Amino acid sequence: MDLIIKGLSKTYGNGVKALDNVSLHIPTGMFGLLGPNGAGKSTLMRILATLQEADSGTAMLGDIDVLKQKDEVRRTLGYLPQEFGVYPKVSAYEMLDHIALLKGVTVKGERKDLVEALLQRVNLWDQKKQRLSGFSGGMKQRFGIAQSLIGEPKLIIVDEPTAGLDPGERNRFYNLLTEIGENVVVILSTHIVQDVKELCSNMAIIHKGKLLYAGSPDESLRGIQGKVWEKSIAKSELEGYAASGRMISNRLVAGQPVIHLLSDERPGEGFVTAEPSLEDVFFSAISRSNAESVAQ
Ligand code: ADP
Repeated sequence: MDLIIKGLSKTYGNGVKALDNVSLHIPTGMFGLLGPNGAGKSTLMRILATLQEADSGTAMLGDIDVLKQKDEVRRTLGYLPQEFGVYPKVSAYEMLDHIALLKGVTVKGERKDLVEALLQRVNLWDQKKQRLSGFSGGMKQRFGIAQSLIGEPKLIIVDEPTAGLDPGERNRFYNLLTEIGENVVVILSTHIVQDVKELCSNMAIIHKGKLLYAGSPDESLRGIQGKVWEKSIAKSELEGYAASGRMISNRLVAGQPVIHLLSDERPGEGFVTAEPSLEDVFFSAISRSNAESVAQ
């Protein structure tokens, strides 16, 4: 079942255009929605999760009209918001049992089987009696996935799930997401390029409410192949390159800045071609879009 979004727009009361005519075709599997903070990702996720209204546009999940048939969407949706809110002083088991009841699993034996299976699945079986309030970031995220899986959702939305996780927790969370992403639409909203690189077969880049790229990570890399140039520079040169508007990224290697520029031809002495990375795709899409909005 695919999710097809057409011409979605949303402007807030303060005049911020959070989504500007966004159209996307999202197939089954893991889909990465990549954008810097403030890009409009959460707005899009909340609209798809029926928590917020769009101004215009459509979104169809199979034959469900997501913007109109809210009850149908809610029945088939698993949502893991950016902030899960308060973590009460109840155990993981009790909380899952309670959420399952709210989601309509009323038969006690059935609920017990479901909750136990979910706790095993997200690897929280040993912690099932621990209070949620004492859980680590990674445990909270895995609990969040467990609750989102109640009701066998066809659409799962995860908003910025790996922020604040340490590398080990992030890996465990990645593995869990890949397992569930096989037969459902999973939209992973993130500003962390690594998340998309490791997990997603399709992705989109949004910035200031506009769609800048949609396709597979591989295609996006081919699009800038041979155009990414690298040079190790002195710290004093960094400001000049940054001001030129052509620099797509900079990082430190052994304390020395190494910059990437996007250019059809060698941009100057000392530059060598670099193998494009998804970071290059992301930052070049954003810097191009910024340059265009300055020019307008
Ligand atoms: P992201 O999730 O990519 O960080 P958001 O969807 O949260 O982006 O925000 C997109 C833009 O809309 C930002 O400029 C943000 O400040 C603004 N925004 C988000 N929510 C509201 C709101 N409730 N009222 C006004 N502006 C908002």
